[in-house]
Amino acid sequence: MATKALADAGLKVAVVEAGPFFDPADPKTQTQFKWPYESPRRGANTQRAFGEFDMAYGGWDVEGEPYNLVNGSSFHWFRSRMLGGRTNHWGKISLRFGPRDFKSKDRDGLGENWPIGYEDLKPYYDKVDQLIGVFGSKENMETEPDGFFLPPPKPRLHELMYINAARKSKVAVIPSRLSILTKRINQDRGVCFYCNQCSRSCSIYADFSSGSCLIFPAQKNGGQIDLFVNAMVKNVNVDKNGRATGVSFINKTDNKEYKLKAKVVILAASACSSARILLNSKSTAHPNGLGNSSNLVGRYLHDSTGSDRAAFIPALMDRKRYNEDGVGGMHVYSPWWLDNKNLDFPRGYHLEVWGGMGMPSYGTGFNLDDLNKHLGLELGGYGNRLREDVKRFHGAVVGISGRGEAIARKDNYCEIDPSTVDQWGIPVLRFHYKWSDFEINQAKHMHDTFEEVLTNMGGKLLGDRPGKEKKYGLHNPGLIIHEVGTTRMGDDPKTSVVNRFEQMHDVDNVFIVDAGPFLSQADKNPTWTILALAWRTSDYIINEFKKQNF
Ligand SMILES: Cc1cc2nc3c(=O)[nH]c(=O)nc-3n(C[C@H](O)[C@H](O)[C@H](O)COP(=O)(O)OP(=O)(O)OC[C@H]3O[C@@H](n4cnc5c(N)ncnc54)[C@H](O)[C@@H]3O)c2cc1C
Ligand code: SF4
Repeated sequence: MATKALADAGLKVAVVEAGPFFDPADPKTQTQFKWPYESPRRGANTQRAFGEFDMAYGGWDVEGEPYNLVNGSSFHWFRSRMLGGRTNHWGKISLRFGPRDFKSKDRDGLGENWPIGYEDLKPYYDKVDQLIGVFGSKENMETEPDGFFLPPPKPRLHELMYINAARKSKVAVIPSRLSILTKRINQDRGVCFYCNQCSRSCSIYADFSSGSCLIFPAQKNGGQIDLFVNAMVKNVNVDKNGRATGVSFINKTDNKEYKLKAKVVILAASACSSARILLNSKSTAHPNGLGNSSNLVGRYLHDSTGSDRAAFIPALMDRKRYNEDGVGGMHVYSPWWLDNKNLDFPRGYHLEVWGGMGMPSYGTGFNLDDLNKHLGLELGGYGNRLREDVKRFHGAVVGISGRGEAIARKDNYCEIDPSTVDQWGIPVLRFHYKWSDFEINQAKHMHDTFEEVLTNMGGKLLGDRPGKEKKYGLHNPGLIIHEVGTTRMGDDPKTSVVNRFEQMHDVDNVFIVDAGPFLSQADKNPTWTILALAWRTSDYIINEFKKQNF
């Protein structure tokens, strides 16, 4: 976002990206429309976390780029090394934070309030909606502010059943808000034709990725953008006064180190990568890392909470086939609907529903033998018997995922590991992260909800309900891939790393425009807020240039 806003304003921008150039429309790398039979494993994974056709150039494990865990901590760090990063294969759930999400401490005394409020970000959320496009519906809910919405797609059969079941339990359901074009907004991007394969990257640019919607249009507008790809930033360089002069990077094609000079350095490498770059930028002026006089760089790392459950829905078995195509995501969802006063955890979670008649591929039906037992049928099978079972059961499993807000805590953090380096000799991160009872209790509540709603659908629950020993099914931190909060925002340089314009307190020409500055996560996915904040920060930088402060 910063690249587009700054280049459109006439500034020269050098984008330094650790991965290769990537264009979703390039037929050489495209996996969209590939049939399962085009893969010897029907699309099952050998290297990519979500299967061979998924577009992530990376995952929780990246060759040559290790990270470590400390003292029984668990953290899974997802990285995608490609121009546009994880937006090439993300889930597109594009939610604004609501007014109370910025001031949650006022409600429960936990965490910290943001120094800015919804009113500061609203104009930028509005601009992001209109530039990029998001479908949804006006709901007049204070917690889920309305934006500029394109028409949402209609719910499919399993989603209609979910709506009835959820409403029976007084769980709110509204149309999803995904950044996918259901109507044309310009001549450069196509309109979604419901191939249901967004995780493979959209070759007609109907969904949002940073490359297709921001960098390429900015280049087309005549923006002065130099792309440095396969370039791994090692550190930010500073002058003798401690002001940034540019960055050093390793060119991954010749393994040599190069320096780039800049008047302003903007980090957008994702929350943990930016913290790593800062902590690796030690100098006389910044002995424990750039802009780290507060000792808070890396601290308050937090990911969304998450848990899931699925059920077999007999009413969806032996289904009549009809066109049920849709976007690569859910068409309806449930925003948080309860008041925490009577609950044993703070903050909320939203519900995502999945199921339907997508293209069968590897793992279809999960375990058909297991489904047969619900009908008293013989277990096991192959050949015609297996084929029949697949046809009968396909589309009859529906699942719900809860994604919620964790409390940011100082003792959950990343720091430089003193004894491990990556393949280019750059010191790597190690993580300290443990969930608290708040998140564990929230997961327990999620499972109560999953069971009630799935049972309302007439479902037979699959698997066992996870107990206390499994933290009630709470996924390990990092697995929801919403990590935020390593360079927190605030007015006080002693208790925060950046100010309300994402400008480092200690170094006025370094800005951080990823999720590092987040003080809290909300029960929302983070990307729409990253984009709105980055645009706001870019406007600030442009004004500072006009005032000749850089
Ligand atoms: C499967 C999946 C589903 C998701 N679904 C959603 C969703 O529905 N809604 C939502 O809001 N969010 C979702 N997310 C999260 C979303 O993708 C991230 O919030 C978003 O991409 C963060 O943007 P970013 O630019 O900060 O980081 P990234 O997208 O990770 O981009 C960072 C870029 O910086 C580069 N980089 C990193 N370190 C260096 C370095 N040292 N030198 C040079 N370059 C470097 C990386 O290679 C990468 O290209 C999902 C993520 C995944 C993986
Ligand atoms: S579902 Fe729509 S947005 Fe997603 S990849 Fe297919 S055409 Fe593109």
